[in-house]
Amino acid sequence: MKKLNLTFDNGPTVETTAMVLDELLQRNLLASFCVVGKQLESAAGQDLARRALAEGHRIVNHSLTHGTALGDDPSDAHANAEVDQMHDLMQTSLGDWGARWFRPFGRGGKIGPHLFSAASVARFADLQYSVLLWNSVPRDWVDTQGWVETALKDIQQQNNTVLVLHDLPTGAMLNLPRFLDEVHKLDVQITQELPRDCVPFEHGKAIFDQAHLARLTTG
Ligand SMILES: [Zn+2]
Repeated sequence: MKKLNLTFDNGPTVETTAMVLDELLQRNLLASFCVVGKQLESAAGQDLARRALAEGHRIVNHSLTHGTALGDDPSDAHANAEVDQMHDLMQTSLGDWGARWFRPFGRGGKIGPHLFSAASVARFADLQYSVLLWNSVPRDWVDTQGWVETALKDIQQQNNTVLVLHDLPTGAMLNLPRFLDEVHKLDVQITQELPRDCVPFEHGKAIFDQAHLARLTTG
């Protein structure tokens, strides 16, 4: 049976995350929410992240500023700000948020040497982070309707799709119910079980081989 991981990036947002959580709860589905610092600084953002945790979703550190990719500024200071400072913000605002996961900022979902820096890899090791990549980016932020068909195509072509969506107020998530209805008609299991090829680091240790990691890392 094919598998699908639902991941929602760049939230939580007041306009969209509650609606996404309602939809998942109603259908008894679990997902990953990859949260960013600017959204988690507000009380409303923290409430939404706590609600997601309480309902069994995975909360993922998706960087403090989501500004410059880790590999585009390989300094220690940048890695420290994006990984450690976000980690501290999550600890302060959420308490125990379960397993430590980080998702790098991909510049529109691209995979390449901009994803990591040597300094950030050292931060993952120190903080024992596992890292979550992706294998489907239907660009819901620009194709607010058509992402549904793009995602359905990806799901049928892969054994375990890690789908990147955004719980942002673009209008794209108004199509989430239609998408989940279509997925339900296929022989696909929605899971939090990740494919090996989307997890380059586990508890701070490299899982991908050196050559593979070198293609994803700068500095
Ligand atoms: Zn993002």
